[in-house]
Amino acid sequence: MDRLYAGIDIGGQSLKGIVLDQAGNLRIEAVRSTPAREGREAVLRSIANLITELSQIGTLASLGVGTPGGVDKKGVIVGMAANIDGWEGTELGEALSEVAGAPCVVRNDANMAAFAEWSARSNNSSALLFIGLGTGIGGGFVEDGRILGGCNDRAVEIGHCVIEPGGRSCACGISGCAEAYASGPSIGRIAADLALGRDARLGSLEPQGFEKSFEGSALAARARAGEDLNARDVYAAYVTGDPLARLVDAVAQAALARAAAIGLALLAPDTLVVGGGVIEGAPHLCSNLQELLPNLVYRDAWKDCRVEKARFLHKAGLYGAALYGAAQIESRKNLTALAARVLELSLMERH
Ligand SMILES: [Zn+2]
Repeated sequence: MDRLYAGIDIGGQSLKGIVLDQAGNLRIEAVRSTPAREGREAVLRSIANLITELSQIGTLASLGVGTPGGVDKKGVIVGMAANIDGWEGTELGEALSEVAGAPCVVRNDANMAAFAEWSARSNNSSALLFIGLGTGIGGGFVEDGRILGGCNDRAVEIGHCVIEPGGRSCACGISGCAEAYASGPSIGRIAADLALGRDARLGSLEPQGFEKSFEGSALAARARAGEDLNARDVYAAYVTGDPLARLVDAVAQAALARAAAIGLALLAPDTLVVGGGVIEGAPHLCSNLQELLPNLVYRDAWKDCRVEKARFLHKAGLYGAALYGAAQIESRKNLTALAARVLELSLMERH
């Protein structure tokens, strides 16, 4: 009988689930909202219902679950992840394994995304660093199929590397993190600050040679009219040559390059993969890195490192959860073939 591998991505806003079969087909995909304010029991019930929905197509062979923040080796939630009331201390792995009737592994969501990207390159990468630019900036590192977890799976929180000391405030409570300059919401907020003449705290990230009046900038006009901006708005304006968007892009690019350089110096990856929703609208943020890194990190670290765009795009975390679950019961060879077939069938790489 065909084996079925389920993957679930837990977010503060939504719970997403998929099931892949051995041939790499996406057999079912389901989404429901996260009842985060209703507390732990409500969220667990919602995840259990999602698993029941996924199981309708057949008996699950494995379940991988990605969650924000910390999780220990037994699948117990550590820290204040996902803004779910009472979520800390939840024995997620055990509870979900029972519901699914299959072995369940729980890991940090960015680590799952890194695993998906490594699975797609396991024939030619033995050390892969993933950086995802989305609502925040996530990171993960996979060496020969093993996720570098650190304490409670919090390793490679690259978004919280301080790249501009004393700079913009970050949600983590520190100032100057990469996430405060290059996540989707941060890119929008920097545009708004500059348009409104507020101190955007760019410090040494301020690019040279940019006019700050933003004359003729439609993006600046929107900010001045009180619109909330995000990276999507900035990059829609960027392609029209908007002067404010061009400046904000240069800031995000420089911040990403500094964070990536720290990752290269610390981890010596042979492949750096950049993904997340922001990259889909601004692929040059990834492709320009190869030119910027030589100024930011020693030669051996960048010359042996390929820089590539994510193949699983913004769904890396969800597919990574399913593939990581499968990896617990399948051989490396089968996993590599499975990841290749999933990509081929989903045509994700072509978009
Ligand atoms: Zn931070």
